[in-house]
This record gives sequence, structure tokens and C-alpha cells, in this order.
Amino acid sequence: MRIINLSSGSDGNMTYLESENVKLLVDIGLCCGEAEKRLSAIGVKPSEIDVILVTHEHNDHIKGIDAFSSKYDIPIFAHRNVWQNMNYKLKKTPSKNRRFYETDGFRLRDLQVKAVELPHDVPCYGYVFENNEKKISILTDVGHTNERILSCIQGSQLVYIEANYDKDLLVANLKYPPALKRRISSGHGHLSNKETALMVRALVSTGTRQIVLSHLSKENNSPSLAYNYISNFLKEYGIIEGEHFKMDVATTEIGTMFRL
Ligand SMILES: [Zn+2]
Ligand SMILES: [Zn+2]
Repeated sequence: MRIINLSSGSDGNMTYLESENVKLLVDIGLCCGEAEKRLSAIGVKPSEIDVILVTHEHNDHIKGIDAFSSKYDIPIFAHRNVWQNMNYKLKKTPSKNRRFYETDGFRLRDLQVKAVELPHDVPCYGYVFENNEKKISILTDVGHTNERILSCIQGSQLVYIEANYDKDLLVANLKYPPALKRRISSGHGHLSNKETALMVRALVSTGTRQIVLSHLSKENNSPSLAYNYISNFLKEYGIIEGEHFKMDVATTEIGTMFRL
């Protein structure tokens, strides 16, 4: 498998993954033109995409989906619960390309896909991709973690995991009304750097070797802050970034291509 994050954060999320027989996108939170531009930058034609998987209906995940899917006639896959809120937001996508799944797992040719239900303020799903004993997980927009989520993604060699906000920056942010701060830090909002650090510790202890911190808030976090917080947290447990595992940070720019 090859995977690359094409944009991450509240301005738009989009990830490209391919196996031998499938090329797919997880979310298109960029406008259609920008999505086309970024795919072209990695040498992929939009018409080559077999399927678009959706995590949830927030605009930073579906902004360009309707235009992209209808322009290139690409099916959109989302959980039935996600479609309940998303259906009316897509104006152009024909019904044949509005596909839903209800089970927590399905197959796309040579890819086994597991959908992981996540606690967020709308129905939301993370994805686990397996192919030839390789396993990659994508988890963003996670209000809180638990054993169920951990057990779904454990054993992944590579995990994209949200590190949304630094708690002190969020508390001190004068631009955010109290209700928004409560929403973000609630069990159905996003993960703080500390919550992510705990999850990364659990993952690295069970064999994950590459972490990509994702969906950083541009107001309440920064790549260096998230990276330093989490790597220092792990150091206290004797887990050293660069030695026991590697940690990358996904940003609003095209990220690193990983091959498994
Ligand atoms: Zn989001
Ligand atoms: Zn969201």
C-alpha cells in the first residue's frame, strides 16, 4: 500500500491510499479544483480514483465531494448513519454513487476495510485498511478514545491520529466562545495533545512504528507544539521518537508518502 495525506486540519482533510488494485480517497475537505491539483502533484489522475470514503459530514471533510464525485463519476461510500445527515448536502451526486455500508467491515477488491465508529458530535467513522498483512489506520475527529477503538487499530504499522488542540491554548483562546471550547474538549469533540499522547503510547507499546499526528487546530495547536508535547510525554515512559518509532505531523500542505 501507498498512502499520503494531501491536507489535514480544520481547513480541509483529504488522504490518498492505494493498493495494487484500488485507488481511493478518504474525505475531500478541499474544493474540487484544489483536490485535482494535489492529486496531480502526486501523479494521480482524478479519473483513476475508484472510491471516495467519507468519515463524517462536517465541511472540512466533504467540501469538494459533491463536485469531484459528480465530475468524475466516482462512488461515495459512507456509513448509513453518516448519509442521514449528508444526503441533502450533496446536490449533484447521482443516487447510484451514494453508497452506504452498515457493517463494520467490507472489502474493496484486495483491500479489507474496517470502519471504526468514533465518538464525535455527528456520526463519524475512522478507517482501518488491511492488505498483505499490512495495516494502516486513520482516526480523526475523535471525542475520546477507549479500549474498543484501540483494539480496532492495534497492530497497525502506520496510524494517522488526530492531535487537535493543546489544552492551555484552548483555555486561553479569547476568540473562542465558551460553548465552542466545551464542544471541542468534550467527549464528543476532539483529542487534546495529552489524550493523543496516551493513545500513541498504547499503540507504540503494541508495535506501531509510524505515527502521523493529524487534524491539528491552527488556533489551538501547532506542528512543533504537538510534536514536542507528545514526544516528551513518551520520553518519560522510555519511548523515544526516532528510535522506538517515528512521528510525522500532517499539515495543510501535501505530506509524506508512506509505502508499506
Ligand atoms: Zn474535522
Ligand atoms: Zn468533525
